[in-house]
Parts: sequence; structure tokens; C-alpha cells
Amino acid sequence: MTAQLIDGKLIAQQVRDAVAVEVAKRTAAGKPKPGLATVLVGDRVDSATYVASKQKACQELGMDSFHNQLPGDATQEQVEALVKRLNADPKVNGILVQLPLPSHLNEERVLQLINIEKDVDGFSPINIGRLAQKGRDPLFVPCTPYGCIYLLEQAGVKIEGANAVVLGRSNIVGMPAALLLIGKNATVTVCHSRTRDLPGVVRQADILIAAIGKMEMVRGDWIKPGAAVIDVGINSKPDATRKSGYRLVGDVNFDEAKEVAGFITPVPGGVGPMTIAMLMKNTLRAAQIQQGE
Ligand code: NDP
Repeated sequence: MTAQLIDGKLIAQQVRDAVAVEVAKRTAAGKPKPGLATVLVGDRVDSATYVASKQKACQELGMDSFHNQLPGDATQEQVEALVKRLNADPKVNGILVQLPLPSHLNEERVLQLINIEKDVDGFSPINIGRLAQKGRDPLFVPCTPYGCIYLLEQAGVKIEGANAVVLGRSNIVGMPAALLLIGKNATVTVCHSRTRDLPGVVRQADILIAAIGKMEMVRGDWIKPGAAVIDVGINSKPDATRKSGYRLVGDVNFDEAKEVAGFITPVPGGVGPMTIAMLMKNTLRAAQIQQGE
């Protein structure tokens, strides 16, 4: 292996420790605990697991968490009424609506209802709009892309002036990651399912962020020697040696890429733990903003 491993588990733990210290200082000073409200509509097992990890993180860091569960057939009005109630609740500093919502609901309308000061996921159109505008800062940066950039910075990768390639243009990962890289003065190419000659484009990348959800699609010979590779993908690969029958792999063929890249994140243990760590950081920030700090 020639690449330096970027240890997301360790870096996420450092972020969490720093948040916990700050929360403890605030509570010792008599300030209320930061509080995160989670909203889960329906009973998707993966969504329930993500929400449970977020609640657990709140407890571990000394924050309050308030869970709100609605049935899968909840109406638009019910979901909106819940968000409005959480907007008005002073104990709730951050609101996280777990996506995806069931398909009969209008996700955009729900997200734009969240008070911008409580939008700890950073998905409201106002936050994303600010991210896209030069010289404007969003109140909150979406957690997974925030984690990607944080990992690059912690690894000492120079973003300014670099050629960065982002694979994927989703609202939650690819597009905000590209906007963040532009904001940090990288020259950014965004690829998607209609991009021609993907290997050729990826070979230009000093920094590669892969977020396409295609198991090990990026091969070692696509990687520019010395490049920094951030693998966001989470895919289940059949593995008879595991009790579960599968293991998690990324969008990048790790075994091949680690021989060429300069830096690389593993899956699991790379970007994954950063998402919740950045959510906790955003929730603390929300409490600080709401208390006028
Ligand atoms: P989406 O399915 O919303 O978006 C996938 C993107 O990849 C789309 O822009 C799509 O293009 C593009 N794409 C799909 N196939 C190809 C292809 N063959 N070549 C080039 N581009 C392609 O996924 P998400 O952004 O939500 O998630 C991406 C991955 O990241 C998933 O594996 C997901 O599990 C993981 N993830 C991990 C998180 C973490 O915490 N680590 C958090 C969130 C996601 P088009 O727009 O043209 O359809």
C-alpha cells in the first residue's frame, strides 16, 4: 500500500470529543443542553438505524434528543404541522428530517419549512443557495460533504488550485461537495450517469470524491498517482466468510486504488462516521446561534 489511510473513525471521534467538551462547558455554565429533534416517517429499517445512531450520539455527547415518529401514511399536513411545532419549541435547536420521505410526500416543501437556524442537515433551499453563492456562507453545511472536506483538510491535502472531480450530483452529497470545493478554490468537474469517458475524467483528479452508489466501480488505473480519494459510497458486497453474508465496500476498488493514490478513505471507517460527527457539530452550532453567541 502506498496511499496514506485517512482514518475517519479517529477524526470523527476527535470532532465528537471536542463537541462533548463544549457541551459540558455550556451546561456547567447553566446553559441548556443543545437539543436535536429527529423526524422519521414510516418504518424503513435503514432510516430507523440512522436515526437511532444520531440519538445515541446525542446522548454520548451530553445533548438532548427528541424523537418524533410518524406512520408511513402520514399526510403532508401532519408532517408540516410537526415541523412547525418543532420550529416553535425552544428546547429543540436542530431539526433532522430523515430522508428519503415516503414518495407521496413533498420533500422540498417539508425541508423549506424548517427554520433556517435549526436546519442542522443544511438541506433547506436557503442554506444550499448560500453555499452556491460567492461570498455568502450557509448557516450549516450538509453533514456528509462537510465531513469529506474536513477529512481532506485534516489529512493536509491542499484543496486550493487542485483539480477536483466529484462523482455524483445528488442534493445531499455530490452537489454540495462540489460547491464546497469550489468555495475552497479547487477547479471542479462534476460527473454523473451521462458523463462520457469517466475513467479519462477521473484520471485528471488531484482530489476525487466518489458518491455514486456503484460498488467498487472506480478502478485503480483510473486514479492519478498521488491523488486524494474520498469514498462516500456504501454498498453491500456478498461475502460468505461473514456471519451477515455481506460486507460493506465503497464506490472505489480500495485494493487497487490504495496502490496508486496518495491518500484514501476506507469503507467502512472513512466518511461514514464523519456524517454523524458533523451533525453533532452543527447541532452545537445551532444552539450557539440561537443563544446569540
Ligand atoms: P444518489 O443515488 O442520490 O446519486 C447518485 C449519483 O451518482 C447521481 O448523480 C447519478 O447520476 C450518479 N451515478 C449513478 N451511476 C453512475 C455511473 N455509472 N457513472 C457516473 N455517475 C453515476 O446517491 P447519494 O448521493 O445519496 O449517495 C451516493 C452514495 O453515497 C451511496 O452509496 C450512498 O449509500 C452513500 N452515502 C453515504 C453517506 C455516508 O454517510 N457515508 C451519506 C449519504 C450517502 P444522475 O444524476 O445522472 O442520476
